Amino acid sequence: MTAEKIKLLGKTPDELMAIAIEAGLPGFTGKQLAQWLYVKRVRSIDEMTNISKAGREKLSERYEVGVSAPLGVAVSTDGTKKYLFPVSCSRSSALCAYERESDLETSAIEAVMIPDDDRRTLCVSSQAGCKMGCRFCMTGRQGFHGNLSAADILAQFIAVDECHELTNAVFMGMGEPLDNFENVMRAIEVLTADWGFGWSPKRITLSSIGVLPKLQRYLEESRCHLAISVHNPFGDERESMMPVQNAFPLQEVIRLIRQYDFSGQRRVSFEYTMFAGFNDDKRHADALIRLFSGLECRVNLIRFHKIPDFPYDTSSDIVMERFRDRLNSNGVTCTIRSSRGEDILAACGMLAGQHSK
Ligand code: SF4
Repeated sequence: MTAEKIKLLGKTPDELMAIAIEAGLPGFTGKQLAQWLYVKRVRSIDEMTNISKAGREKLSERYEVGVSAPLGVAVSTDGTKKYLFPVSCSRSSALCAYERESDLETSAIEAVMIPDDDRRTLCVSSQAGCKMGCRFCMTGRQGFHGNLSAADILAQFIAVDECHELTNAVFMGMGEPLDNFENVMRAIEVLTADWGFGWSPKRITLSSIGVLPKLQRYLEESRCHLAISVHNPFGDERESMMPVQNAFPLQEVIRLIRQYDFSGQRRVSFEYTMFAGFNDDKRHADALIRLFSGLECRVNLIRFHKIPDFPYDTSSDIVMERFRDRLNSNGVTCTIRSSRGEDILAACGMLAGQHSK
Protein backbone atom coordinates (compact mmCIF):
# COMPACT_ATOMS: atom_id res chain seq x y z
CA MET A 1 0.00 0.00 0.00
CA THR A 2 1.45 3.40 -0.97
CA ALA A 3 1.54 5.92 1.88
CA GLU A 4 -0.90 8.83 1.60
CA LYS A 5 0.89 12.04 0.73
CA ILE A 6 0.90 14.99 3.13
CA LYS A 7 -1.08 18.00 1.94
CA LEU A 8 0.68 21.35 1.69
CA LEU A 9 -2.52 23.41 1.82
CA GLY A 10 -3.17 24.83 5.25
CA LYS A 11 0.49 25.12 6.22
CA THR A 12 1.97 28.42 7.35
CA PRO A 13 5.11 29.88 5.70
CA ASP A 14 7.19 28.67 8.68
CA GLU A 15 5.86 25.15 8.31
CA LEU A 16 6.45 25.29 4.55
CA MET A 17 10.02 26.49 5.14
CA ALA A 18 10.64 23.50 7.43
CA ILE A 19 9.26 21.19 4.72
CA ALA A 20 11.50 22.80 2.08
CA ILE A 21 14.62 22.48 4.25
CA GLU A 22 13.81 18.89 5.08
CA ALA A 23 13.55 18.20 1.34
CA GLY A 24 17.03 19.72 0.84
CA LEU A 25 15.75 22.96 -0.72
CA PRO A 26 16.71 26.51 0.34
CA GLY A 27 14.63 27.97 3.20
CA PHE A 28 13.18 30.75 0.98
CA THR A 29 11.36 28.04 -0.96
CA GLY A 30 8.83 28.10 1.92
CA LYS A 31 7.79 31.60 0.88
CA GLN A 32 7.58 30.54 -2.76
CA LEU A 33 5.40 27.59 -1.78
CA ALA A 34 3.02 29.89 0.11
CA GLN A 35 2.72 32.11 -2.97
CA TRP A 36 1.98 29.21 -5.28
CA LEU A 37 -0.56 27.75 -2.87
CA TYR A 38 -2.42 30.83 -1.68
CA VAL A 39 -1.84 33.62 -4.21
CA LYS A 40 -1.56 31.74 -7.50
CA ARG A 41 -3.65 28.86 -6.11
CA VAL A 42 -2.15 26.11 -8.22
CA ARG A 43 -3.45 22.57 -7.97
CA SER A 44 -0.19 20.63 -8.34
CA ILE A 45 3.44 20.92 -7.26
CA ASP A 46 4.46 20.56 -10.91
CA GLU A 47 2.96 23.98 -11.68
CA MET A 48 5.39 25.68 -9.23
CA THR A 49 7.80 26.60 -11.98
CA ASN A 50 10.20 28.84 -10.04
CA ILE A 51 11.19 25.80 -7.97
CA SER A 52 13.73 23.60 -9.77
CA LYS A 53 12.42 20.47 -11.47
CA ALA A 54 14.55 18.32 -9.14
CA GLY A 55 13.14 20.25 -6.15
CA ARG A 56 9.57 19.71 -7.31
CA GLU A 57 10.25 16.02 -7.78
CA LYS A 58 11.74 15.75 -4.31
CA LEU A 59 8.75 17.52 -2.75
CA SER A 60 6.32 15.34 -4.71
CA GLU A 61 7.74 12.19 -3.14
CA ARG A 62 6.05 13.01 0.19
CA TYR A 63 3.77 15.97 -0.47
CA GLU A 64 0.90 17.13 -2.68
CA VAL A 65 -1.06 20.37 -2.86
CA GLY A 66 -4.22 18.64 -1.60
CA VAL A 67 -6.79 19.65 -4.22
CA SER A 68 -9.06 16.98 -5.69
CA ALA A 69 -11.13 17.41 -8.83
CA PRO A 70 -14.88 17.50 -8.09
CA LEU A 71 -16.77 14.23 -8.37
CA GLY A 72 -19.72 16.16 -9.73
CA VAL A 73 -21.02 19.66 -10.40
CA ALA A 74 -24.71 20.64 -10.55
CA VAL A 75 -25.80 24.03 -11.90
CA SER A 76 -29.04 25.69 -10.79
CA THR A 77 -31.29 27.76 -13.04
CA ASP A 78 -30.35 30.73 -10.81
CA GLY A 79 -26.62 30.26 -11.48
CA THR A 80 -25.81 28.63 -8.12
CA LYS A 81 -23.33 25.78 -8.50
CA LYS A 82 -22.96 22.81 -6.20
CA TYR A 83 -19.68 20.88 -6.18
CA LEU A 84 -19.18 17.42 -4.74
CA PHE A 85 -15.67 16.61 -3.48
CA PRO A 86 -14.06 13.44 -2.18
CA VAL A 87 -12.37 13.78 1.22
CA SER A 88 -10.41 11.55 3.55
CA CYS A 89 -11.31 12.84 6.96
CA SER A 90 -10.52 12.18 10.56
CA ARG A 91 -12.84 11.67 13.49
CA SER A 92 -10.36 13.46 15.75
CA SER A 93 -10.85 17.18 16.39
CA ALA A 94 -7.14 17.96 16.58
CA LEU A 95 -5.44 19.92 13.81
CA CYS A 96 -5.36 17.35 11.01
CA ALA A 97 -1.90 17.45 9.53
CA TYR A 98 -0.17 14.12 9.68
CA GLU A 99 -2.88 11.53 10.14
CA ARG A 100 -2.06 7.97 9.32
CA GLU A 101 -4.03 6.51 6.47
CA SER A 102 -5.66 3.98 8.80
CA ASP A 103 -7.20 6.85 10.83
CA LEU A 104 -8.98 8.31 7.83
CA GLU A 105 -12.45 7.68 6.45
CA THR A 106 -13.31 8.37 2.82
CA SER A 107 -16.41 10.43 2.31
CA ALA A 108 -17.87 13.18 0.11
CA ILE A 109 -18.70 16.76 0.95
CA GLU A 110 -20.31 19.66 -0.89
CA ALA A 111 -19.47 23.30 -1.51
CA VAL A 112 -21.89 25.76 -3.08
CA MET A 113 -20.92 28.79 -5.16
CA ILE A 114 -23.59 31.49 -5.03
CA PRO A 115 -23.36 34.33 -7.58
CA ASP A 116 -25.05 37.62 -6.73
CA ASP A 117 -24.31 40.66 -8.93
CA ASP A 118 -20.55 41.04 -8.69
CA ARG A 119 -20.27 38.82 -5.60
CA ARG A 120 -19.20 35.18 -5.71
CA THR A 121 -19.77 33.59 -2.32
CA LEU A 122 -18.52 30.11 -1.54
CA CYS A 123 -20.48 28.17 1.06
CA VAL A 124 -17.98 25.64 2.41
CA SER A 125 -18.27 22.45 4.43
CA SER A 126 -16.26 21.90 7.60
CA GLN A 127 -17.19 18.29 8.38
CA ALA A 128 -18.36 15.22 6.47
CA GLY A 129 -21.82 14.79 7.97
CA CYS A 130 -22.53 16.28 11.38
CA LYS A 131 -22.95 15.16 15.00
CA MET A 132 -25.51 17.76 15.97
CA GLY A 133 -28.63 15.94 14.75
CA CYS A 134 -30.87 18.92 13.88
CA ARG A 135 -34.07 17.24 12.75
CA PHE A 136 -34.73 19.47 9.73
CA CYS A 137 -31.27 19.04 8.17
CA MET A 138 -30.22 16.43 5.59
CA THR A 139 -26.58 16.67 6.68
CA GLY A 140 -27.55 15.95 10.29
CA ARG A 141 -29.49 12.89 9.19
CA GLN A 142 -26.47 11.17 7.69
CA GLY A 143 -24.56 11.16 10.98
CA PHE A 144 -20.91 12.08 11.46
CA HIS A 145 -18.16 10.77 9.19
CA GLY A 146 -15.28 12.99 10.23
CA ASN A 147 -13.67 16.38 10.48
CA LEU A 148 -12.20 18.01 7.41
CA SER A 149 -8.56 19.01 7.66
CA ALA A 150 -7.65 22.65 7.03
CA ALA A 151 -6.35 21.43 3.65
CA ASP A 152 -9.72 19.93 2.73
CA ILE A 153 -11.50 23.13 3.73
CA LEU A 154 -9.13 25.30 1.67
CA ALA A 155 -9.18 22.88 -1.26
CA GLN A 156 -12.85 23.75 -1.77
CA PHE A 157 -11.79 27.34 -2.60
CA ILE A 158 -9.13 26.24 -5.05
CA ALA A 159 -10.96 23.43 -6.83
CA VAL A 160 -14.01 25.44 -7.91
CA ASP A 161 -14.05 27.00 -11.40
CA GLU A 162 -14.57 30.42 -9.79
CA CYS A 163 -11.43 30.15 -7.63
CA HIS A 164 -10.02 33.54 -8.65
CA GLU A 165 -13.40 35.30 -8.69
CA LEU A 166 -14.53 34.41 -5.16
CA THR A 167 -15.32 37.46 -3.03
CA ASN A 168 -16.84 35.98 0.15
CA ALA A 169 -16.97 32.80 2.19
CA VAL A 170 -19.60 31.41 4.50
CA PHE A 171 -18.98 28.41 6.73
CA MET A 172 -22.57 27.25 6.30
CA GLY A 173 -22.11 24.00 4.36
CA MET A 174 -22.01 20.53 5.85
CA GLY A 175 -21.08 20.25 9.52
CA GLU A 176 -20.89 22.46 12.59
CA PRO A 177 -17.71 24.51 12.11
CA LEU A 178 -17.12 25.08 15.82
CA ASP A 179 -17.10 21.31 16.32
CA ASN A 180 -13.98 21.26 14.12
CA PHE A 181 -12.51 24.36 15.68
CA GLU A 182 -8.76 23.99 15.13
CA ASN A 183 -9.01 23.14 11.44
CA VAL A 184 -11.61 25.83 10.72
CA MET A 185 -9.50 28.44 12.51
CA ARG A 186 -6.42 27.39 10.58
CA ALA A 187 -8.36 27.74 7.31
CA ILE A 188 -9.55 31.20 8.39
CA GLU A 189 -5.96 32.14 9.26
CA VAL A 190 -4.85 31.19 5.74
CA LEU A 191 -7.77 33.04 4.14
CA THR A 192 -7.08 36.26 6.07
CA ALA A 193 -3.26 36.30 6.38
CA ASP A 194 -1.17 38.64 4.22
CA TRP A 195 0.87 35.60 3.19
CA GLY A 196 -2.36 33.70 2.47
CA PHE A 197 -5.39 34.71 0.46
CA GLY A 198 -5.17 38.18 2.01
CA TRP A 199 -8.94 38.50 2.49
CA SER A 200 -10.46 40.93 4.96
CA PRO A 201 -12.23 39.14 7.88
CA LYS A 202 -15.32 41.09 6.75
CA ARG A 203 -15.59 38.73 3.79
CA ILE A 204 -16.03 35.66 5.98
CA THR A 205 -19.02 34.52 8.04
CA LEU A 206 -19.07 31.48 10.28
CA SER A 207 -22.46 29.98 11.01
CA SER A 208 -22.99 27.94 14.18
CA ILE A 209 -25.80 26.49 16.24
CA GLY A 210 -23.96 27.84 19.30
CA VAL A 211 -21.34 25.44 20.66
CA LEU A 212 -20.56 27.61 23.65
CA PRO A 213 -16.92 27.13 24.72
CA LYS A 214 -15.70 27.19 21.13
CA LEU A 215 -17.99 30.11 20.30
CA GLN A 216 -16.23 32.15 22.96
CA ARG A 217 -12.85 31.27 21.49
CA TYR A 218 -14.09 32.17 18.01
CA LEU A 219 -15.25 35.57 19.24
CA GLU A 220 -11.92 36.14 21.00
CA GLU A 221 -9.58 34.80 18.34
CA SER A 222 -11.17 35.86 15.05
CA ARG A 223 -12.58 39.09 13.62
CA CYS A 224 -14.90 37.40 11.12
CA HIS A 225 -18.68 37.72 11.18
CA LEU A 226 -20.92 35.34 13.09
CA ALA A 227 -24.31 33.84 12.22
CA ILE A 228 -26.23 31.85 14.85
CA SER A 229 -28.96 29.35 13.94
CA VAL A 230 -31.88 30.12 16.25
CA HIS A 231 -35.02 28.65 14.66
CA ASN A 232 -37.03 28.98 17.87
CA PRO A 233 -36.78 31.32 20.87
CA PHE A 234 -38.38 28.89 23.33
CA GLY A 235 -36.04 26.35 24.94
CA ASP A 236 -38.40 23.35 24.94
CA GLU A 237 -39.54 23.91 21.36
CA ARG A 238 -36.01 24.54 20.13
CA GLU A 239 -34.74 21.42 21.84
CA SER A 240 -37.35 19.32 20.04
CA MET A 241 -35.68 20.32 16.74
CA MET A 242 -32.10 20.96 17.87
CA PRO A 243 -30.64 18.68 20.56
CA VAL A 244 -27.80 21.20 21.12
CA GLN A 245 -30.27 23.32 23.11
CA ASN A 246 -29.95 20.85 25.96
CA ALA A 247 -26.17 21.32 26.27
CA PHE A 248 -25.92 24.97 25.22
CA PRO A 249 -29.19 26.87 25.74
CA LEU A 250 -29.85 29.71 23.32
CA GLN A 251 -30.26 32.20 26.17
CA GLU A 252 -26.66 31.51 27.28
CA VAL A 253 -25.43 31.87 23.69
CA ILE A 254 -27.09 35.30 23.46
CA ARG A 255 -25.69 36.26 26.88
CA LEU A 256 -22.19 35.50 25.61
CA ILE A 257 -22.72 37.38 22.33
CA ARG A 258 -23.89 40.45 24.24
CA GLN A 259 -20.43 40.71 25.79
CA TYR A 260 -18.90 41.54 22.39
CA ASP A 261 -19.11 44.65 20.25
CA PHE A 262 -21.02 44.30 16.99
CA SER A 263 -21.54 47.99 16.34
CA GLY A 264 -18.46 48.32 14.13
CA GLN A 265 -17.07 46.22 11.29
CA ARG A 266 -17.97 42.88 12.75
CA ARG A 267 -21.56 41.68 12.41
CA VAL A 268 -23.75 39.12 14.12
CA SER A 269 -26.85 37.74 12.45
CA PHE A 270 -29.43 35.19 13.51
CA GLU A 271 -30.82 32.58 11.15
CA TYR A 272 -34.46 31.65 11.56
CA THR A 273 -35.91 28.91 9.36
CA MET A 274 -39.68 29.22 9.24
CA PHE A 275 -41.79 26.10 9.81
CA ALA A 276 -45.56 26.52 9.35
CA GLY A 277 -47.38 26.12 12.65
CA PHE A 278 -44.20 25.50 14.65
CA ASN A 279 -42.29 28.75 15.06
CA ASP A 280 -44.06 31.38 12.96
CA ASP A 281 -46.69 33.07 15.11
CA LYS A 282 -46.86 36.34 17.03
CA ARG A 283 -45.71 34.67 20.24
CA HIS A 284 -42.45 33.65 18.56
CA ALA A 285 -41.93 37.04 16.95
CA ASP A 286 -42.45 38.80 20.30
CA ALA A 287 -40.05 36.42 22.06
CA LEU A 288 -37.40 37.17 19.42
CA ILE A 289 -37.95 40.91 19.88
CA ARG A 290 -37.31 40.50 23.63
CA LEU A 291 -34.32 38.21 23.06
CA PHE A 292 -32.55 40.62 20.70
CA SER A 293 -33.62 43.87 22.32
CA GLY A 294 -30.79 46.41 22.24
CA LEU A 295 -28.44 44.09 20.35
CA GLU A 296 -26.90 45.35 17.10
CA CYS A 297 -27.90 42.45 14.83
CA ARG A 298 -29.94 41.23 11.88
CA VAL A 299 -32.43 38.37 11.73
CA ASN A 300 -32.60 36.41 8.46
CA LEU A 301 -35.82 34.50 7.85
CA ILE A 302 -35.25 31.41 5.73
CA ARG A 303 -37.80 29.38 3.80
CA PHE A 304 -37.75 25.75 4.86
CA HIS A 305 -37.01 23.26 2.07
CA LYS A 306 -39.07 20.17 2.58
CA ILE A 307 -37.14 16.99 3.33
CA PRO A 308 -38.57 13.46 3.51
CA ASP A 309 -40.21 12.19 6.73
CA PHE A 310 -40.41 15.59 8.39
CA PRO A 311 -43.75 16.88 9.65
CA TYR A 312 -43.54 20.60 8.84
CA ASP A 313 -43.80 22.66 5.65
CA THR A 314 -42.36 26.09 5.15
CA SER A 315 -44.41 29.07 6.34
CA SER A 316 -46.29 30.91 3.61
CA ASP A 317 -44.95 34.13 2.09
CA ILE A 318 -47.63 36.20 3.79
CA VAL A 319 -46.83 34.74 7.22
CA MET A 320 -43.13 35.35 6.68
CA GLU A 321 -43.74 38.93 5.59
CA ARG A 322 -45.92 39.63 8.64
CA PHE A 323 -43.29 38.09 10.91
CA ARG A 324 -40.56 40.19 9.29
CA ASP A 325 -42.62 43.38 9.57
CA ARG A 326 -43.38 42.77 13.25
CA LEU A 327 -39.67 42.44 14.06
CA ASN A 328 -38.73 45.48 11.97
CA SER A 329 -41.38 47.68 13.53
CA ASN A 330 -40.12 46.71 16.99
CA GLY A 331 -36.50 47.63 16.43
CA VAL A 332 -35.08 44.29 15.25
CA THR A 333 -33.72 44.45 11.69
CA CYS A 334 -35.16 41.52 9.80
CA THR A 335 -35.06 40.35 6.17
CA ILE A 336 -36.34 37.35 4.25
CA ARG A 337 -33.36 35.56 2.73
CA SER A 338 -33.88 34.63 -0.91
CA SER A 339 -33.53 30.93 -1.48
CA ARG A 340 -30.76 29.84 -3.86
CA GLY A 341 -30.07 26.57 -5.63
CA GLU A 342 -33.18 24.77 -4.44
CA ASP A 343 -33.53 22.86 -7.74
CA ILE A 344 -30.10 21.25 -7.25
CA LEU A 345 -30.63 20.56 -3.52
CA ALA A 346 -28.07 23.22 -2.64
CA ALA A 347 -30.20 25.41 -0.37
CA CYS A 348 -29.96 25.58 3.44
CA GLY A 349 -30.39 22.21 5.13
CA MET A 350 -30.33 20.24 1.86
CA LEU A 351 -26.66 19.27 1.57
CA ALA A 352 -26.23 15.53 1.75
CA GLY A 353 -22.90 14.78 0.07
CA GLN A 354 -24.52 13.06 -2.89
CA HIS A 355 -24.98 13.75 -6.57
CA SER A 356 -28.28 15.56 -7.00
CA LYS A 357 -28.36 15.36 -10.79
FE1 SF4 B 1 -25.25 19.99 11.70
FE2 SF4 B 1 -25.86 22.47 10.92
FE3 SF4 B 1 -27.26 20.39 10.02
FE4 SF4 B 1 -27.50 21.10 12.58
S1 SF4 B 1 -28.10 22.34 10.79
S2 SF4 B 1 -27.25 19.00 11.80
S3 SF4 B 1 -25.41 21.79 13.02
S4 SF4 B 1 -25.11 20.80 9.61
